[in-house]
Amino acid sequence: MMNFSDLGLSEKVLAAVQSAGYEKPTPIQEQAIPHVLARRDVLGVAQTGTGKTASFTLPMLSLLESGRARARMPRTLILEPTRELAAQVEQSFVVYGQNHRLTVSLLIGGVSFAEQLKKLDRGADVLIATPGRLLDHFERGKLLLTGVETFVVDEADRMLDMGFIPDIERICQLLPFTRQTVFFSATMPKEIQRLADQFLHNPVKVEVSPAASTAKTITQRLISSGSKPWDKRAVLRSLINDAKDLTNAIIFCNRKRDVATVCRSLSKHGFSAGALHGDMDQTSRMATLDGFKKNEITLLVASDVAARGLDIPSVSHVFNFDLPTHAEDYVHRIGRTGRAGRSGSAVSIATKADKKYIDAIEALTGDTIEWLGEKDFTSRSSDNDDQEQEKPRRSRRTRGKARTDSAKSTDHQQPKAETAPKPATASKSEPVQQQESGRKPGAARTERPDNNMRNNRNRSKDRGERQIIGMGDHVPAFLLQPIRPTKGKAENSNGTD
Ligand code: ADP
Ligand code: MG
Repeated sequence: MMNFSDLGLSEKVLAAVQSAGYEKPTPIQEQAIPHVLARRDVLGVAQTGTGKTASFTLPMLSLLESGRARARMPRTLILEPTRELAAQVEQSFVVYGQNHRLTVSLLIGGVSFAEQLKKLDRGADVLIATPGRLLDHFERGKLLLTGVETFVVDEADRMLDMGFIPDIERICQLLPFTRQTVFFSATMPKEIQRLADQFLHNPVKVEVSPAASTAKTITQRLISSGSKPWDKRAVLRSLINDAKDLTNAIIFCNRKRDVATVCRSLSKHGFSAGALHGDMDQTSRMATLDGFKKNEITLLVASDVAARGLDIPSVSHVFNFDLPTHAEDYVHRIGRTGRAGRSGSAVSIATKADKKYIDAIEALTGDTIEWLGEKDFTSRSSDNDDQEQEKPRRSRRTRGKARTDSAKSTDHQQPKAETAPKPATASKSEPVQQQESGRKPGAARTERPDNNMRNNRNRSKDRGERQIIGMGDHVPAFLLQPIRPTKGKAENSNGTD
């Protein structure tokens, strides 16, 4: 068993690590740090939550102790796929650089330009950026990348999912040839391998436990549902209400508009819920994450992109509102629970159309996932749980049908939200009632956690999506794709820059 002091890190860094309370390096840190310190190119692959951030920040701090930054010429550059991840890495430099006097500059969307520019002008030792924002600055001539000594691409697989590969290729070409290049990724898809082959010179590959394995401490289940959003929302509510020992949970949705809708629906039903997706401004994302960490928010509704790599505390439950279309995302999602040997529970809502995804997940993980209850994929029609959101979709005919059907449906015993809201007072929902107990959801409108993401951008997006609804429920996938990414799979939520 190695200690941090065996890795070659400087005294200042070791002192900071000690005062921050890390005792031992994680396996990826143990293997990667000496090579980064030796200025080798490194390709690091390790699952989410294994401590990849410190694998590059600690040695970078040591290396930065010699030399000085010049105006507009950052000495090191770290690319992150999302603003949160960039902010977290900045935080890591604050904590581990407490004994250094380094300038760390952040170039991300949603944060004031002026402040960022001031730091860059003075000369940044460390520049942390999202690819789009970095290129914006570069094109305006505010930045020179010819002084970069170390270049880090973090969460490379997520960069790929978000369509950032062309941006990264462009950025690589703006950097000096003699730089050190470090890639970190949770998985190694072939496009990332290709990028690494192109831009890393004689790299050391360090790899820790493949991302295809799920922890044995996680109980995995599937539950069948009709395919309509309200079917799934009703199933989700019953899952939450029936969950044993639920202390907190993350609910994953594939699309950001569903993140918003599910969060609103849960709040309306008296649950303590917050949303995290790529279209929210930085401040509200941070506020939501903070609320979740402090246990003020029990249920975090999130998209993969928003949640990837985030330092979210371990949760007791993970619910997949949608099965992920990439099997690897399933592994990452459920890995949010059952950490450090504790038990966790992951339940995925499955519709009839999800069979191919389930097959892919089972093939990847080698696990057979059991079903909760009988498989029943029939739609129950709407129970009017979210009249506000569903209104544009619903014809008078469906609404009439909803009344008759809901009488037989077990999941729909709850009265309509707008006439007789159900406060979360049932003993089962104990964890979620602290916040909302006894309060009528309707009356809490202005305090709803998702309220702050109703910014203009979001609203106009919603409008755009509503217009699509005229084509029926099955919106062609290309219409759901964000505009920015030029290549790659971008059906998941996006919107970092
Ligand atoms: P990754 O990028 O691999 O997903 P992070 O770097 O975000 O993971 O680290 C995940 C969590 O582990 C963070 O809360 C971090 O503070 C913690 N951590 C990292 N290294 C150590 C260590 N050596 N000892 C204890 N905790 C650590
Ligand atoms: Mg990370």
